[in-house]
Parts: sequence; C-alpha cells; structure tokens
Amino acid sequence: MPLLPPVGRLAPTPSGLLHLGNALAFGAAWLSARGAGGRVLLRVEDLDRGRARDLVADAQRADLRWLGLDWDAEVTPQSRRAYPIDAIPTYRCTCNRAARLARLCTCRAARHAEGVWRYRTPPGEVAFVDRARGPCRVAPEDDPVVMRADGEAAYPLAVVVDDARDGVTEVVRGADLLDATAVQVRLYEAMGLVPPTWLHVPVLLGPDGRKLSKSHGSTGIGALRDAGYTPERIWSLLLPLLGLPPGPLEHARLDPARIPPGPFVVGEDGRIRS
Ligand code: GLU
Repeated sequence: MPLLPPVGRLAPTPSGLLHLGNALAFGAAWLSARGAGGRVLLRVEDLDRGRARDLVADAQRADLRWLGLDWDAEVTPQSRRAYPIDAIPTYRCTCNRAARLARLCTCRAARHAEGVWRYRTPPGEVAFVDRARGPCRVAPEDDPVVMRADGEAAYPLAVVVDDARDGVTEVVRGADLLDATAVQVRLYEAMGLVPPTWLHVPVLLGPDGRKLSKSHGSTGIGALRDAGYTPERIWSLLLPLLGLPPGPLEHARLDPARIPPGPFVVGEDGRIRS
C-alpha cells in the first residue's frame, strides 16, 4: 500500500517574536514534511488572547517567510474554534498553584460546579515513540487544565483536537514539549483518535541557561536580520543542531536518526555550543 504524504504543521504562539529556538523547531517541521513530499499547515495558537496579538502573528508569518519556511494553507486560528470536553473524563478544580504544588488539592474527589476543568489523567508513565529518540516513557503532568474557568480551552486539549481535525500526521517541535506529549498521547487515547508521529528537536538555551525566550532579544529572528544576518547564515548555524551539514535550507535532507538530543546553549558571542 503506498504511504500517503505526511501533513506537518507550524504552530506558532503569538506571545513573542520568533527566536532561533523557534526557527530550529519550525525548520525541522518544514524539512520533515517537505522532504517526504508532504503538506505544511500554519496554525496560529492564540488561545491566550490576553497576550496574543494579531500584530505579533503577522510579524511571525513574515519571519517564517523570510527564513524560507512556507505553508500550503493557514487553518483557523485557535481563538476562533470550539473545543468540546465531554468526550474526556474531567473534574473541576478551585485550587491555586501553591495548593496544587503542596499536594493539598482534593478536588479530584469533589464535585465542584466552578473552577478550571482538569483532565483526570490515568496513573502511570506514557509510552510513545519519538522519531529521533526512539521509545520514550514519560510521566505526564498531573491532571493538566484542559479548560479554563471561563470556558476557554487550554493548550493540551486544543492542540490534540486541532491536530486531529486538521489531519496532521506528524508533530515536530522542541524537546521542551516532551512532557506535553505524554499528556497528549493520553488525550488521543481518551478521545479515540489516531495520534500523529512525534519528533522532538533540541531546545536552545540562552547564556543564562534558560530556554530561549523574548528576554534573549539578540536571538530574535528580526534582531538578527537587522544585524545583517541572511537566512542562509541562520540555517548554517541551525542545521548542524539537527545533525545536518551547514548550508541553505532547501538543500537539507532531514534524517531523524542523526538529530542529537541537545540542549544547546547560544552564548553572548552568538556562538552555539552543547
Ligand atoms: N504553539 C507552540 C509554540 O509556539 C507549539 C506547540 C506545538 O508544536 O505543539 O511553541
């Protein structure tokens, strides 16, 4: 039976401008789908409307295009979709973060009519196969929030419903989301949906050892462009982190087996080391 071409996606959250770490993950997602003759979707993950900004999403699209990452279709952004939770076991929880961390929450056994909705996660580790790391066993986060008290869906639920609805067959993203994958595998099971394949690529850390974010302004794609970097130069920095020779993106052929686990540190001098 011939294999159908894969469907991948770029799923930026418009809470900050794209940085080198986003470019690495999106570049890997693009190479994976394109290299197999597949389709690439763009989905703006703007559930958190307070922080998400249309202007940021526009700037992210422009940065993606400038990097040479294109997409076949942009699907409906998350803020304009509905996410039913009746198919999954949930309970409402009124605890704050401190109470949860101190394990004082007893909401699982209560029947609250208010509060956030948490997914009743079955106990035990979750097994899944990562295309680079091989078989993984990860303990999922304890009962993650799947819907906020105001009825807006939270990321773990939305990403699963969307990837299934959008026909995504492969998820490629940063290794910081390995724990999220464990929850999502459970949610696919709970909803009786076929999960995509998973590929996690190295996380980039700033000189302070923390995951790159907008506070590491000099690693922003826009900042690098303003400093005279070309897309070719950026890919020459990033492709070796995927186990590939430096060079233009369009010549790169992703081989998941060669992707190192990472993480990598972007130094003050812009050099990247493991
Ligand atoms: N929206 C997430 C981000 O921008 C990606 C989530 C995912 O790929 O599942 O980091």
